[in-house]
Amino acid sequence: MDFLNTVQFEGKREFIFVSGEKQIYPVGQIIFSILDTDWEPLIADANKTSARIMDLKGSFEIGKRMESPSESPYYLAAAFNNRFDSAFTSAPVLFYLFSSQMPFFFVRKYQGDSASKVFASFIKEYPVFDDTLRSFGSLKDESLSFLSVQYVISAAKALKRIHQFKSDIEYIIKETLDTDGPNSNMPIEKRYASLPPELRKKYERSDAAVSVKCVLDSDRPSMGYYSEDICALAFLEFEYMYINSLAVRKCDNCGRYFLPFSSLSRYCGRVAYDKNQKSCKDFAAMDKYSDKLSRNAAKKLYRQRANAYQMRCSRAPSAFPRSEYELWKENAKKLIEAFENGDITEEQFDKAIQIPGK
Ligand SMILES: [Zn+2]
Repeated sequence: MDFLNTVQFEGKREFIFVSGEKQIYPVGQIIFSILDTDWEPLIADANKTSARIMDLKGSFEIGKRMESPSESPYYLAAAFNNRFDSAFTSAPVLFYLFSSQMPFFFVRKYQGDSASKVFASFIKEYPVFDDTLRSFGSLKDESLSFLSVQYVISAAKALKRIHQFKSDIEYIIKETLDTDGPNSNMPIEKRYASLPPELRKKYERSDAAVSVKCVLDSDRPSMGYYSEDICALAFLEFEYMYINSLAVRKCDNCGRYFLPFSSLSRYCGRVAYDKNQKSCKDFAAMDKYSDKLSRNAAKKLYRQRANAYQMRCSRAPSAFPRSEYELWKENAKKLIEAFENGDITEEQFDKAIQIPGK
């Protein structure tokens, strides 16, 4: 249990230990995931859910209350928790270090409270609740309802904090680690000092929330960091990147920050969650290749047609006057431009440069 969720850095890589299993990411994954996430809908959901739960007053037996789950504070809290978790399917570090841990961190604060056991059970069992009901169905639910609303409120607080952290860290990165940022002419070690002091103070103390743990990795002990506070871990990531001068850049395809493999890397490895499962890197490579290919193909087609047309002009000048050929040629050049600008498709281009025929 102690080694759950330890973060460890090595060069440009970052290891996250989840239930003893090691996951490998490029350094900065927590920050990039926070920047990639749209926090506002989650905050709105938490606010709406806590308001709804607060409307459900009274004390009932758990079994009685669960006759209509949509009127049950704890069922609503468990449903919220489930939506909260599924919001991070494409950001696994946030799932492992934040959302999936939230109920455990919360319940730990109420360890002496028997309601916390029932609450944890509801969350674990959701969307069913038969087992929990069988064990606790005849209990009065007042403190369980209280715990449920507290849980959603604490989630809302944590979400708002990350939302604020997102805009702070985006600014901090732009000023310090961004290769194309406004301070990119300044030596990297001087950039941090140029940040507004209030902003520096805000997170510098956050390492108090981080504890250092020893991780046994293939018989080689090494240091890892552990915290219940995702923002503290993310700031630690920033400090590691800053100290090691690991600059970041915005991807030329999606415009989001990433850790470039080399100074030439322009595209990130984020995968588009569509049926193609291609990353920005793949898209860029494909685009350039097919672009060049079709541009060359368009010019080649034009040259072939122009040669054939000229030939006809010299063989049968009455049917193919040269003046018409010159007009065709001028038009074809405009069409090549239109094709290169993406205004017309390859097919349209092909049709438009047909030799006007007899
Ligand atoms: Zn990208």
